Amino acid sequence: MGASGRLGGRCRSYKACEFARAVNATALDEGDLMYIVVYGLGYVGLTAAACLAKGGHKVLGVDLSDEKVAAVNRGVSPIAEPGIEAAFSEARQSNLLRATHDPSAELAEADMAMVCVGTPSSADGTHDLSYIAEVTRQIASAVKPDRPRPLTVVYRSTIRPGTIDDLVLPIFRGILGDTVDAAVEVVYNPEFLRESTAMKDYFNPPKIVVGTGDGKPSSTMEALYEGIDAPRFNTRFREAEITKFVDNSWHAVKVGFANEIGRLCVRLGIDAGIVSRIFLSDTKLNVSAYYLRPGGAFGGSCLPKDVRALQHLAGEAGINAAIVDSVLRSNDAHKHFAFDLCTRDLTPGARVLVVGLAFKSDSDDLRESPNLDLVSRLVRAGYEVSVYDPSIVPERLMGQNLGYAYANLPSLRELLVDREQAERDSYDLLVDANGQGGALNVRARQIVNLHSL
Ligand code: NAD
Repeated sequence: MGASGRLGGRCRSYKACEFARAVNATALDEGDLMYIVVYGLGYVGLTAAACLAKGGHKVLGVDLSDEKVAAVNRGVSPIAEPGIEAAFSEARQSNLLRATHDPSAELAEADMAMVCVGTPSSADGTHDLSYIAEVTRQIASAVKPDRPRPLTVVYRSTIRPGTIDDLVLPIFRGILGDTVDAAVEVVYNPEFLRESTAMKDYFNPPKIVVGTGDGKPSSTMEALYEGIDAPRFNTRFREAEITKFVDNSWHAVKVGFANEIGRLCVRLGIDAGIVSRIFLSDTKLNVSAYYLRPGGAFGGSCLPKDVRALQHLAGEAGINAAIVDSVLRSNDAHKHFAFDLCTRDLTPGARVLVVGLAFKSDSDDLRESPNLDLVSRLVRAGYEVSVYDPSIVPERLMGQNLGYAYANLPSLRELLVDREQAERDSYDLLVDANGQGGALNVRARQIVNLHSL
């Protein structure tokens, strides 16, 4: 999709073909033309409607608002967004876009229903899902199971994990009963557009995520996105549903962190712009995938020490740096989580082998190592603990490293085993703390991988 000229495209339904012929449409280079009903004409729905029509699909927009429906039917965009006004007027001229309050009678002809209604914040901060429920009921009541193929119902609104399984599917099943699979195919496909570049983003998304019941691709969604170049992920509903929460929270953390550093610099008479340019130039460690994956807590001789010092610097300067302030607490919470994960199924006195003691593999730095903290907690909790880490040679530990190790784990020397012993004994639990557990041939009833959650 993405080309505005259309030649020889395949029409999925009679109505879509009829429209394509009526406008003497040069069809898409590849892909199917569809008849798509878009519920909710806000920023997301209007952008989708404009871009789908631009791609040659026939689109019916649906909204409760009289003004929005009337504006779309006049070929006028109800929102300001670069490119959208022209796309609307083109789409109206070629009869590829209309709007209505009630699309029930049209659903039989449609190939796809795209749900883009709002999910505003409720008083307690959760998303209000009542519009999602309402539109789902409308679709379920209007769609008929005697269709040549199920109506693909695509949810694009941001919804909490579990919404499709626990709210949407029960509504469809409640109304359609045993005919549900013949009537609808439910898909979750989060929207990643940014207002002000929404149309560009639609055709050049950072990624395409499609959630389905079994995590397998949907052929209709594959056809919809044919020709769009972006990384694709087919997942179950929940992984797809949480994506937007993760992305938007991360974007917010980026803004918040940059501003904390910015105001600290301003207060200290440091040029925040220069600091930012230096920071952003580092695409190996700073602005990269490095460090950004769920696994072990951070530790070692630098990160905890320097975060603490930055906190102190901000405090001295009278700067509220709430994000920086929360980082060490967050790391401690992760250490508690790791301990709980390891011990939740363990019987008292169980035999545990921890692979990895230093803060990362191929290092013997034990200072503030979260793995050493874990071993220490396991020992104090009464488990029979052995540790395998070929980088640790007790006789070679010195200075602060030695001091930290023996202050926090006095029995270090007795706990260490070599590979031969680790592989000879059997354990109730193997804790892979540094990613090297897989290389060992260890007999363990249970394995917990802390290196990669
Ligand atoms: P919006 O509030 O601008 O528009 C929602 C529209 O849905 C409104 O026009 C409303 O009248 C309509 N609506 C509500 N109930 C309806 C019903 N029963 N039938 C038909 N129409 C109905 O919302 P938006 O900004 O377009 O966002 C929609 C969803 O997409 C939200 O979940 C949002 O979080 C998500 N999202 C938004 C953006 C963005 O940049 N705005 C980006 C990605 C995802």
